Amino acid sequence: MLLSAEIFADANSEYIDAKFVIFGAPFDETSCFRSGSKRAPSEIRKASYNFETYNAQYDVDLCDVPFFDLGDIKRSVSVDEMLKNIRNSVCEIVNDGKIPIMMGGEHSLTYPCIQAFDCISIVVLDAHLDLRDEYEGYKHSHACVSRRIIEEIGDINYVSIGIRSGAKEEYDFASKRDILFYTVSRIQAEGISNVMHDVVEYLNTDRIYLSIDVDVIDPAYAPGVGNPEPFGMIPADVKYVIQLLAPYTIGFDLVEISPDYDHGQTALLGAKLIREFIAAKGSS
Ligand code: MN
Ligand code: MN
Repeated sequence: MLLSAEIFADANSEYIDAKFVIFGAPFDETSCFRSGSKRAPSEIRKASYNFETYNAQYDVDLCDVPFFDLGDIKRSVSVDEMLKNIRNSVCEIVNDGKIPIMMGGEHSLTYPCIQAFDCISIVVLDAHLDLRDEYEGYKHSHACVSRRIIEEIGDINYVSIGIRSGAKEEYDFASKRDILFYTVSRIQAEGISNVMHDVVEYLNTDRIYLSIDVDVIDPAYAPGVGNPEPFGMIPADVKYVIQLLAPYTIGFDLVEISPDYDHGQTALLGAKLIREFIAAKGSS
């Protein structure tokens, strides 16, 4: 049993009644620059108490949306074992007809979440392509997660947004395979609403998993991340992505917050974006 301060604010439902099941995945073993994302779930939970339960935009009170905090997934130092623990938990949540919400942890943890679904498409928000085949000896490094996901679900079921960094080989791979990604410059030129309508049309599905690597947001707003990258998205555009995709979203995660490099604002933004998703989906 979790103490009330240790659960995400307003997660008042029992598991059996919950529409959403939120959990922490405290793991950062493959992090290469600023590790510490294993501490993010507890910081995001603490930050979640800052906000009103009522969301005026959706006219919904989070106290009235049934969601449950499962606590943290059992931590392992082995990447493979951690991925397995997450896959097992998410499979159970999905089989019980509920929507999983993961608080990472590093981005590699999105892969086992995806494996829990049949016929899923994914929208990844990330500064980085994450298309390396291998990084620092790991196939399941955070820097390879989009590559692993594409292998699992197919090129045409994948879109990434907010991209502004990658190795030449990653850009070559994306171009050879016709992987659809939107740069921040393109979002600025075309507007987030045009971009997102194109994305919805391209994927043409009502089964979307939304993964937010918080480094997609400009480091001025979100400095506490594993690999900060300038010239990023603004938080309001990320909120819009959540809103527009909510009707189709059946799984969600928010990863890569690194509390040691934060003054609290990144954890607050992360907690708020999760609450926006619950409000948007909970009212749809
Ligand atoms: Mn990433
Ligand atoms: Mn990233």
